[in-house]
Amino acid sequence: MDILSMNPGFSISDQSSLVPAASAACVRLGQTFTNNATFTPQHDAYKPLIQASWSETTWQAPACIFVPRTVDELQGAVSILVEKEASFGVRSGGHMPIPGAAVVDNGVLIDLSRFTDIEYNGEHDKVVIGTGLRWQNVYDYLDQYGVTVVGDRDLDVGVGGLILGCGLSYLSESYGLACDNVVNFGVVLADGSTVNANEYSHRDLFWALKGGSNNFGIVTSFTLKTYPIQQVWGGTRIVSWYQVDDFLDAMIEYETAPDRDPLASVNIDLVATNETIILTLPTMEKNRPAAFSVFDRFETTLDTTGIKTLTELMSEFPTPPIPRIRHHALTIKPTKQLTAALKAVMLHSPAHAHHPIRHRRHRLEAGQPRSGGGGGAIGNALGLEAVPQSWFGLDLRWWDAADDERMRTAGAALYAEIEEAAAAARDRGGRLRYLFLNDAHEGQAIMAGYGDENVRRMREVREHYGPHRVFDRLLAGAFKLP
Ligand SMILES: Cc1cc2nc3c(=O)[nH]c(=O)nc-3n(C[C@H](O)[C@H](O)[C@H](O)COP(=O)(O)OP(=O)(O)OC[C@H]3O[C@@H](n4cnc5c(N)ncnc54)[C@H](O)[C@@H]3O)c2cc1C
Repeated sequence: MDILSMNPGFSISDQSSLVPAASAACVRLGQTFTNNATFTPQHDAYKPLIQASWSETTWQAPACIFVPRTVDELQGAVSILVEKEASFGVRSGGHMPIPGAAVVDNGVLIDLSRFTDIEYNGEHDKVVIGTGLRWQNVYDYLDQYGVTVVGDRDLDVGVGGLILGCGLSYLSESYGLACDNVVNFGVVLADGSTVNANEYSHRDLFWALKGGSNNFGIVTSFTLKTYPIQQVWGGTRIVSWYQVDDFLDAMIEYETAPDRDPLASVNIDLVATNETIILTLPTMEKNRPAAFSVFDRFETTLDTTGIKTLTELMSEFPTPPIPRIRHHALTIKPTKQLTAALKAVMLHSPAHAHHPIRHRRHRLEAGQPRSGGGGGAIGNALGLEAVPQSWFGLDLRWWDAADDERMRTAGAALYAEIEEAAAAARDRGGRLRYLFLNDAHEGQAIMAGYGDENVRRMREVREHYGPHRVFDRLLAGAFKLP
């Protein structure tokens, strides 16, 4: 059953336990939008709406949940929240596992899951996608036209959060990050107005949204470039743990090869708990690239590589349903010395993923200003250094809420060991300033990692588009400007 049809309308009973401003905003939302858009704890749909967030670590208790159908309704809601000075959170796909990133205790949750419009324009190689879609919806729709976009590698993740964190895709080696492929953001600002931010209009906002998360506005739609890619060579290999030493050397060999194939992409997950290495190998071509031959010497327990659609490739291994997750992000320069230091740490790590990012010219051009058309003329806000780098993500997953604190402490300790190893290797590479927002935990200083000058520019954008720092004060979220 559609969650939202479970209990239509809005009713107020016991509001006494709610924070007054949010409570007052909920009443006004319910009175203003009488079309089954506002849900309080008394509604049957309230709990399933909270539990629509992917990780149980995020399940808090908002005063109410507002689910707008149109941009007009969202604009009206923002005006009410600002007028009442109510704290609120914004959710698209609900996959960020950070507590309070979207669902906020005693505040108002704005759920954007009804923004699901999608429209492909084959003449201009673009698609407009609503922020409430999941990547599976986007890829399934585009498959009928034989094209795709730079989006997520996991089909269930939401469109909005991924792009606003810049988004790492299997296509990123060739076409940059997801945010680099945005040609227009449709945005609702703190004063309730809407703007289109693109290369020609509101250029400063356009730049800041490429990495700026929810600091500047609520994005309702994204226009992305499309690419004529459908059938690819690729798949997953599972390698037994006893080969891990040699495997990590092969990874360095792959990462530092001078002539790496820009159409090939590699992702590895080291899963110490079940003693496997999961290697995902997509290329954007129909032939197996020579660059992957470095991995051929490893004995596999499973190998699904072959020709298939990129969507099929991504659906082969859905994320295991372990309900609680905590990420840690680290950016390192791939050197032998550092990898050797990391090996020991990894051996007792529950799981971590490793995304090599080869800063070839094409990628730098995607992320930094360049001449010519499209979003590339403006660049993104990440301030990436022009060196080959690996975005290293430590993922801890567990079952019980009783273990939350233990996992937080264990994650911090493990991360500290990895950081120490990276710091020790600094003279030969080591740790880089940038941290990948989409893989980070709430204690990580993400925006500061974009560099002083970019933070200064983003502060200007925030002042310009949200006087009185409305979103900074009222909109919950994991990563604020320092
Ligand atoms: C299983 C799994 C696989 C993943 N795989 C990848 C991957 O391959 N590549 C990658 O880059 N990342 C990946 N991620 C990380 C993912 O991109 C982030 O967690 C992202 O924030 C999820 O987006 P969402 O819309 O689902 O999240 P949400 O939790 O809805 O939102 C995340 C944050 O963005 C803000 N936000 C969301 N939508 C909007 C909007 N429209 N306007 C303003 N602010 C908004 C929210 O307020 C919140 O703070 C993965 C995460 C998981 C759990």
